[in-house]
Parts: sequence; C-alpha cells; structure tokens
Amino acid sequence: MPGFELLGDAERRAVAQVMETGVLMRYGFDGARNDHWKAREMEAALARRMQTPYAHLVSSGTAALTVALASAGVGAGDEVILPTFTFVASFEAVLALGAVPVLCDIDDTLTLDPQAVAAAITPKSKVIMPVHMCGSMANLDALMALAERHGILLVEDACQAIGGTYRGKPLGSIGHAGCFSFDYVKTITCGEGGGLITHSKALYEKAQAYSDHGHDHIGNDRGAEGHPHLGYNYRISELHAAVGLAQLERLDTFLELQNRHYGILRKALEEEQGVTFRRVPEGGVENYSFLNVFLPDAQVARRAQAALQRAGVDGVFYWFENNWHYHRKWEHLKALKSLGPLPDAVERRIQECNSRDFSASDHWMSRNLSILVKLSWGEAALEKRALALQQGLREALG
Ligand SMILES: *Cc1c(COP(=O)(O)O)cnc(C)c1O
Repeated sequence: MPGFELLGDAERRAVAQVMETGVLMRYGFDGARNDHWKAREMEAALARRMQTPYAHLVSSGTAALTVALASAGVGAGDEVILPTFTFVASFEAVLALGAVPVLCDIDDTLTLDPQAVAAAITPKSKVIMPVHMCGSMANLDALMALAERHGILLVEDACQAIGGTYRGKPLGSIGHAGCFSFDYVKTITCGEGGGLITHSKALYEKAQAYSDHGHDHIGNDRGAEGHPHLGYNYRISELHAAVGLAQLERLDTFLELQNRHYGILRKALEEEQGVTFRRVPEGGVENYSFLNVFLPDAQVARRAQAALQRAGVDGVFYWFENNWHYHRKWEHLKALKSLGPLPDAVERRIQECNSRDFSASDHWMSRNLSILVKLSWGEAALEKRALALQQGLREALG
C-alpha cells in the first residue's frame, strides 16, 4: 500500500516549485505564487480520476470524514452507522461533531453487513458510513438502497481502497460523498492529507467553506469574505498538496504494481486446503492493497501469525487482537475516556453498545489475517515471500 516507498523526483520537484515562490498556503497571495496552485490542481486531478464533478482536499483523512459528515448536515445527537472493523478515525469524526457512532456488524466482505445495517437504522440515523477496509468494498447497491429507502445519506470511507471500483465506478464516487486519506502509509501519500469527492454541488460548497472557517471564497480579499455558516480549519498546505499531486499522477502505476504483487501472493495460497479468501461483492474490483485470508478458526489464525513472524514475514496483521482497527480493543471509546464531558446521547448509546453482541463480526475477524501488499518488492523478494507465506500457513494448518 505505501506510496512512501516510491517517493522520487516528481515529488521533490513539486515541493521545490512551492518553496521557490514561498507561498505555502492554498488560498490567496495570487501575485506571489507564480501560478502554482497545487491544492487546486490536485483537486482537479482527483475529480477527473474519480469521475466526480467535485473534489476538495483537507489536512487528513480524518478531517475528510469530519468535513463530509458536517457537510451532510450531521450534528448533535444524529446517529452515524459504522462497522466494527475500521480505523478509529471513523468514530473520531462522528464524535467531533457531537454525533453518535453506532457500531454495526461486518460480514465476510470485512465491511458493513447490509442486513445488520437495516436492523441498526433508527429515526435518528443520518448517515451510513461503509469503510472499504484493506482494499475492498461493502455491498454498495444494498447500502445505497437502504439509504434511499430511509432518506439518509451514504458516505464512503475509501481511505484504504483508493483506485478500487464497484460496478465500474471508482470507490468513493458511489455514495453521496467519498473520503480518501493521503497519510504516510496510504497507497498515495502527501505526508499528511485527505480529500473528499462528491457529485453534489451543495455538499461541495459546504465542504470547502466548512474546512476553512466558513469562508465563502468569493473575491480575493480574505478579510472581506462572507461566512454562510460556521466552520473550522481543516486546510491542506501547498507543500502537502504538491507531494500529493505528484503521487496522484502515479496512482495507476502504483495500482498496477499492487495488483501484480497481490496476484503472485494469492496464487501461492489459492490451492492451500483450509485457506479461503475475503468475499468481494459482485461487481467489485479491489485496489489490492492487502491480501485477506480466512483460516478455519481463531487458533489456527493465531498460530499462522506466529509462524509467519518467526519466519520473518512482516506486514501480516491479525486485526482481531489489534488496538486500532477492531472494536474489541477500543478501551478509550468503551470507557468514554473523553477529556471533557460527552453529549448524553453519545454516553448512552456507547454504553448500550458495550453490551451488544458482535459475535458475527468476531466470527470473521478472529479467523482473518491481512497481508500487506507493498509496492517496492522485487521479483526475488516476492517469490521468497510467497513461499514463506505458503509454508507458514501450512505449518499452522498442519
Ligand atoms: C487512514 C485511515 C483514515 C484516516 O486517515 P488519516 O489521514 O490518517 O487521518 C480513515 N479511515 C481509514 C479506513 C483509514 O485507513
């Protein structure tokens, strides 16, 4: 997945151009910037690549989620439906708005189970937020149908799946808004950065103002600009956008590499008795950032992870025991360890959630191993890795 593996001359050149002008801010200073508008250019390139009319960059993927939700009208007491398997950013974005994160089971796609979502919808639900974890997507037809039936919105977290598609459309472009992260370990990186895409002019207008203190960006005197609504500062800098623009131009090259490397690892495991693969919804194409396998049970999965660790195979994740990505270990959320008071509705719903049964999620997560697909592996390293994976899993299964 990590674009940082292949940072090069294009990124260095783009940063140097910004440094030469000294204009590190994305707005204003028109005379001094020598026509460099890196954030604007990257937005145009992202919108083009993702086949949406609008794209807006912000300071992180977490910020993209927060801004997308805020622009969708999410506020105090509104419920946002999230998967149990995700990154902590999902509930952070919801909590930042005074809204209520509602956790919901996943299925063998490792993303939201539409049936569980249907059961989690209440009159307070405002947004369904599928998270396309580890390179592959939720059943977006089913989730969009649910959202439409209930008059709520769908915001895709495509931070780990940039470049994947569903029924021919880029992930992120299918819901009412889609979010990407360009943090240091994502498929393309800015260092720190994020972006959202949408087909809705209204949502875009809100997002670009909200992420810059509510500025309407009309005219070229910041001090004289109007503020149609409240906002915050989630701006990206020109330096970050410069790196991101150069990386975005290389996205399809990175995806080809990821696809090829994934294919070699997958082929090595395809015939192994006891190894199955994550289900990709019909019409979906992964971005191949991870190879996800299921083993017969939790014990075998643990044994396999240990065997692979002993064999020196890095980048194999057992998310079930991980503090970041699976609900079981989110102690700070479950114990409501907020620095200040949380809204009553949030406290109530999280406490209620703590006693809920997520055995359907546990069933899949406890037997899953996620194998990171890197860009920089050479032929020999790949062959060696494929063999080591095969041997490690055989040892655990044997
Ligand atoms: C990385 C990531 C984010 C957050 O991105 P940051 O840029 O690190 O804030 C959100 N969701 C998922 C699924 C991610 O992997």
